[in-house]
Amino acid sequence: MDVDALIVGGGPAGIAAASVLSTLGHRVLLVCGDSRPRVAESCPPSILSILELLNVRQEVEVAHCFHARRAMVHWGGRDRAVFEAGFVVDRRRLDAVLLKSAVRAGASVATRVRVSAPQRVSSGWRVRVGDQSVGARVLIDAAGRRGWLPGKRRRLSAPLLAVVASLQRAWSGPETVVEAVPDAWFWGMKLPTGENVVAAFVDPSVRGPTRPCAFRRLFERSSLLNGNIVGQLRLCAAGPVSAEQPVGEGWVRAGDAALAYDPLSAQGVAAALSGGFLAAVVTHTTLTTPENIAIAREFYRLRITESAELHVRNVGAHYAEQAAITATPFWQTRAFRSPPPNAPPSSPQPGERVGLQPGARVTSTPVLTGNLICEGLAVLVFDETRPIAFIAGTPIEEILPHIADRPLANELKDRLVVRFGRQGHEIYRGLFASQIAKPFALPENSSNSVETTG
Ligand SMILES: Cc1cc2nc3c(=O)[nH]c(=O)nc-3n(C[C@H](O)[C@H](O)[C@H](O)COP(=O)(O)OP(=O)(O)OC[C@H]3O[C@@H](n4cnc5c(N)ncnc54)[C@H](O)[C@@H]3O)c2cc1C
Repeated sequence: MDVDALIVGGGPAGIAAASVLSTLGHRVLLVCGDSRPRVAESCPPSILSILELLNVRQEVEVAHCFHARRAMVHWGGRDRAVFEAGFVVDRRRLDAVLLKSAVRAGASVATRVRVSAPQRVSSGWRVRVGDQSVGARVLIDAAGRRGWLPGKRRRLSAPLLAVVASLQRAWSGPETVVEAVPDAWFWGMKLPTGENVVAAFVDPSVRGPTRPCAFRRLFERSSLLNGNIVGQLRLCAAGPVSAEQPVGEGWVRAGDAALAYDPLSAQGVAAALSGGFLAAVVTHTTLTTPENIAIAREFYRLRITESAELHVRNVGAHYAEQAAITATPFWQTRAFRSPPPNAPPSSPQPGERVGLQPGARVTSTPVLTGNLICEGLAVLVFDETRPIAFIAGTPIEEILPHIADRPLANELKDRLVVRFGRQGHEIYRGLFASQIAKPFALPENSSNSVETTG
């Protein structure tokens, strides 16, 4: 059997990649392992737009994969505060719906078969999948944290061990519980069926012959999850890690295999879906536009690096909330205290003149256009931030001419609405939120020079 893409790992990342590539007309073989996903996980509301991008939002909603989620939080000095917070996702249902959609799009699926180490051949790769020899032009490693392809991983924070269990009876009240204690944190999640999953997150240095029993006793320290543990405890690594090389010649890592998030962020599933999409786009570019392969790889590397940096800052800020009141090494080593933010973006008054941020440069950068990665124009506002190629989905090169003559703010808004319709309002807001544009108290006749590089 010969395919364009062989994808190993049937979690959200692998299935998303299979679905997108099949829809784009590529021959895909998705190899699923035999591990079952967790009963329930939490997801941010933004997961809906990713499902929309993958054309499965309606199907996922109809199948009741998501349930409204309130969270009872005991953290950073807040005691039993209750928040509305995204969704609890039934992972078995979600993965099943996604898989059905990938198969409908044309992906072939092999389940519970062994996959050999890949051999390079002139046309790409040869891999044994069960008793078949499969030729593939591109490999996608979506095999979760451990990954399938060899390669080094970089720890992004102190290691974290998850001790996962179920309670005989779930707690009453909110669907999710998050609780900090001096050297661990707890998390519990339940579905309307009454099924639940709980986890204690500890430093893996908790060792010794009493370890299993010490782990069981861990849960006694939670004041919110006060139920009896049933069945076996499962231990798994949960600290954030990223692959040193997320992409290479003829292969891409997607989802946790590229960048695994700390579960505290509740971003893993959403990030795996969008990571699967991006891995598919890199693969599509590799298969159809060979002249853009290097750009596509650069694009993907930058995205993974940027997501890893953002994750370290965001999740570290959550640990810092508790570290402010708990001096133990568990909290102090994981806390990230952000430097004070740059001056906040300023919104203009209607009669103020507005123009390009001084020092901003127009440069060329890899951009995602439709389903392909190519070289495009972007604005680099500050050296330490990512060049911005689109605002509200509109290429920046179509927007820049409208601010070149430093119009009055209200004139700019009118121009953008005339040119881009209702989206003009979003572009106007985006120009100032991204700090590409700013109000000026400068002479009205001064010109707005744009330096171009790249
Ligand atoms: C304790 C814990 C709690 C978490 N809670 C949350 C949460 O609340 N919210 C959230 O968003 N994220 C959470 N996460 C993270 C989330 O589960 C992952 O980020 C997400 O599942 C990653 O998706 P993936 O497709 O990359 O990998 P996975 O979902 O891990 O899928 C990888 C698949 O590859 C298969 N596989 C592995 N090796 C092979 C092989 N050699 N051959 C064939 N198949 C193979 C595995 O069987 C598996 O099915 C949590 C993680 C942990 C550890």
